[in-house]
Amino acid sequence: MKLGIAGKAAIVCAASKGLGKGCALALAQEGVAVTISARGEEALAATAEEIRSETGVTVRAVVCDVTTSLGRSEILAACPQPDILINNAGGPPAGDFRDFTMEDWQRAVNANMLSPIEMIKATVDGMLERGFGRIVNITSSSVRSPIDELCLSNGARCGLTGFVAGLSRKTIRRNVTINNLLPGPFDTDRLRGNIAHRAEAAGKEIAEMREISAANNPAGRFGTVEEFGATCAFMCSVHTGYMTGQQIMMDGGAFSGTM
Ligand code: NAD
Repeated sequence: MKLGIAGKAAIVCAASKGLGKGCALALAQEGVAVTISARGEEALAATAEEIRSETGVTVRAVVCDVTTSLGRSEILAACPQPDILINNAGGPPAGDFRDFTMEDWQRAVNANMLSPIEMIKATVDGMLERGFGRIVNITSSSVRSPIDELCLSNGARCGLTGFVAGLSRKTIRRNVTINNLLPGPFDTDRLRGNIAHRAEAAGKEIAEMREISAANNPAGRFGTVEEFGATCAFMCSVHTGYMTGQQIMMDGGAFSGTM
């Protein structure tokens, strides 16, 4: 299948590693020019070079923190008129809600709700004027099914989901869709950190906890960033103009619901 997005321009936030990188690479493989961002210069430059040499597309790399207004304005200066926006940022820390302060909650809400909303606000009207836009928010399976130790994520991401549910119905008439992509366990640095936290809490070795977690998933494994990126690229394709406001769950079937 041809995705029909060659020549388009995409912003992929928080994309030097993990799921964001998977999305940036998959879009670039479809001929999309990508503007990627992350805080660490070295990893971002290496990822930009990898995408460039593998795909030949234009890759702009912006070293910044997407959770700040300065960071977001730097991304937008590098790519003022994106056709595609992939919202992503680091996830909040794991822990017991009794230990989290007001500042912890504000940080989580800022990173996983308000920053994506600000990026949408800055880009959606241009997409509406041009008659094409695809916005994908990387959220989490925790929106559908709470994860015990990730209460900050469970809460903050539902705020974004609620906002998108409303706006996405107002943009589709102009061929601008907004959907959420919900990762379950994908084999990234983030997952490795969460497993280490769980192993410590259970008094187990990290390797053992990793094996248990993978075996407990209906797929018997973790997802790959390539699978995630390919799904994201499809969600950004010309074929998804009739799909908006959806929660696309990629969790190996771990959420056991009929609908
Ligand atoms: P990761 O730690 O592997 O990669 C995160 C990327 O984001 C890195 O490139 C990092 O440099 C960048 N980044 C983090 N904070 C940033 C910021 N403030 N500004 C700019 N760049 C920033 O994480 P991941 O596994 O790819 O996860 C991506 C998102 O998906 C996170 O919000 C995470 O909580 C969520 N998620 C991941 C999983 C999983 O299993 N991997 C599951 C559910 C949800």
